[in-house]
Amino acid sequence: MIRINENYLKLPGSYLFAEIARRVTAFKEQNPAADVIRLGIGDVTLPLPPVVIDAMHKAVDEMAKAETFHGYGPEQGYNFLIQKIAQHDYAPLGIQLGEDEIFVSDGSKSDTGNFQEIFGTDIRVAMTDPVYPVYIDTNVMAGRTGALGQDGRYANITYIPCHAGNHFIPELPKEKVDLIYLCFPNNPTGTTLTKGELKKWVDYARANKTVILFDAAYEAYIQEKDIPHSIYEIEGAKEVAVEFRTFSKNAGFTGNRCAFTVVPKTVMGYTAGGEAYSLNKLWNRRHTTKFNGVPYIVQKGAEAVYTDEGRKQTRAMIDYYMANAKTIREGLQNVGLQVYGGVNAPYIWLKTPNNMDSWAFFDKLLHEAHIVGTPGVGFGPSGQGYFRLTAFGKAENTAEAIQRIQTRLKV
Ligand code: PLP
Repeated sequence: MIRINENYLKLPGSYLFAEIARRVTAFKEQNPAADVIRLGIGDVTLPLPPVVIDAMHKAVDEMAKAETFHGYGPEQGYNFLIQKIAQHDYAPLGIQLGEDEIFVSDGSKSDTGNFQEIFGTDIRVAMTDPVYPVYIDTNVMAGRTGALGQDGRYANITYIPCHAGNHFIPELPKEKVDLIYLCFPNNPTGTTLTKGELKKWVDYARANKTVILFDAAYEAYIQEKDIPHSIYEIEGAKEVAVEFRTFSKNAGFTGNRCAFTVVPKTVMGYTAGGEAYSLNKLWNRRHTTKFNGVPYIVQKGAEAVYTDEGRKQTRAMIDYYMANAKTIREGLQNVGLQVYGGVNAPYIWLKTPNNMDSWAFFDKLLHEAHIVGTPGVGFGPSGQGYFRLTAFGKAENTAEAIQRIQTRLKV
């Protein structure tokens, strides 16, 4: 009898987005004339920058001729892209990376989800709460957790609550943990850590032989000084941290699929007997066994992001989204709502008025202002009483949404 991986049965199903869709459909059936604005999605809306399109067109033409055709490429990515990443994303920060420390992939979703495979199933995992759901769900699938409790927490996971009370700055875990997921600038809260705050985590990891998986998907949105763009800006991080970056949010590649993961050779994991192994070797083995490389055409598009023109064009995209973030942030503040994030990230995290629960506020916003956002509780129990709006919409829709909130929402 074929048996299933019963860990999958611990997962409640993709309740969050299914439930949002159900409520929006029901609302539209009752109010067919309503013009619903969606500020819930984490997907970008601007088209790819022209330099990227040009580079991809050229690459398509190369694929049409035998002399310039590309079949399977290196699983880890083409050197032309890896070199640009090392030169432009890391060298200016004083971080030197070897070409074999950067792994190009089809997305940070896959990489943040898959990386746990190279660790033992009996390790203790910690993550901030609320959290990007991929981290938790993939650990559930791998069998590292117990059941989901009534309180919305899986047993055997260390949750690190982030809320207004601690300014969304996670506190070091009291118990000893082996693996820590950190995401800054954060999805969903839009908040960041300073270098000093991040250093505490690196120091903890060095002292405890812990590994930090650092998701820097929103690094390009950082506007303020003293906010680290890379965890390797922190002394000693190359001994304990793996970093994930993606072209999805800095260059509009959500539908194109290109990202990369940095695994310094100095980051170690240990056998039960205490023998040290380089995670770089293990990840290389995993990556080359299960992945066959990002398409040449897509990597050529990603390479173009690093040209002068590419940097200008992607900067303009980020500025566009950050102008939306400002509109949302200031608009909500003007009606007396407490808002967080939106300064170094495209996410605005708001405290629901009058301690409403996240879903009650979802309904209120939909019914009174015809706006769809994401209930904070969908990202973890500490998200209860919060709500996420995103800056990835069209500027005119964003402005209209905020105007509606100001005129129609009864807070
Ligand atoms: N990490 C975080 C924190 C995200 O919010 C997202 C997407 O929303 C991703 C990773 C996924 O990135 P990618 O498109 O590269 O899979």
